[in-house]
Amino acid sequence: MKRITGIAAVVALVMLFGSQSGVSAWGMDVHRLITRRAIEGLPADLKPFNMAKADFISEHVVEPDLWIVAGLSGKLGNEAPNHFLDFDGFKEPFPFKNVPREWDAVVQKYGAELANRNGRLPWRAEEVFNQLVDQFTSMARNPLSYAGDNARYLSAILAHYVEDAHMPFHAVEAYDGQPNQRGIHARFETELVLRNKETLTLSPVAIKPVPDIKTFIFDALLDDQQYVPKILDADKRAIVGRELYDDAYFAAFAKNGALEIAEKRYSDSASAVASVWMAAWAKAGKPKLADPPHTPAKIRK
Ligand SMILES: [Zn+2]
Repeated sequence: MKRITGIAAVVALVMLFGSQSGVSAWGMDVHRLITRRAIEGLPADLKPFNMAKADFISEHVVEPDLWIVAGLSGKLGNEAPNHFLDFDGFKEPFPFKNVPREWDAVVQKYGAELANRNGRLPWRAEEVFNQLVDQFTSMARNPLSYAGDNARYLSAILAHYVEDAHMPFHAVEAYDGQPNQRGIHARFETELVLRNKETLTLSPVAIKPVPDIKTFIFDALLDDQQYVPKILDADKRAIVGRELYDDAYFAAFAKNGALEIAEKRYSDSASAVASVWMAAWAKAGKPKLADPPHTPAKIRK
């Protein structure tokens, strides 16, 4: 259990959250739970295909966080900035209409250093979305290929970024409650959720239209902004008169409104993941999603 104040706790938290690159949205267990909920809430067009490998998809959803640990890089650069967009980091007036929606324009306007420091989540989500559309398209062309499992893998990876976009602290510069509420990131996204996971009040998964993946992600990140001050306020009130982040702290934090927000964003995440999967499949022309039949191949002599 972490103390509310104290040098040791501060050192540990700085090590853990020294930069946003060390922070994983929702925690791995919560990523798994949200993804499982998205799979179970899918319409009949896509549900049997994803349910057939539900364990595979809900395990691989955590992989982009592990790429950070392993120091992997992709086309856009190192992995960490792919997981957030610190909208307020551009110092533009809310609702950040002056922040360009094209990556090249962002780099041109603010410079590569600031652009990368503020994160690349919408553009990374777009990149993976397009890869998923390509795999679904390959399935339409050749149902006997590996494209089915590739599509499930990319569905998992896309789910990760979509879930990150619904975690309010992945949309602001003070991603860990700096300077005075350090640790709020993990308290909100992981411990609060896991402590209450059996009794969460969640909305049913609803499929929303996704005309454009990048705009969809930008909208989620914009939506996140309203929740940050409310979560910080719930935390601030919960620590009054306390020494430890203990059961009583988490009960107060939940009651002060943090749990309701976690439930809302958890529900929104599951709906968004199911929606982007459906959108990718539709964009690929709604291919038939059968796995190749297991018929013995002919021996060639
Ligand atoms: Zn992440």
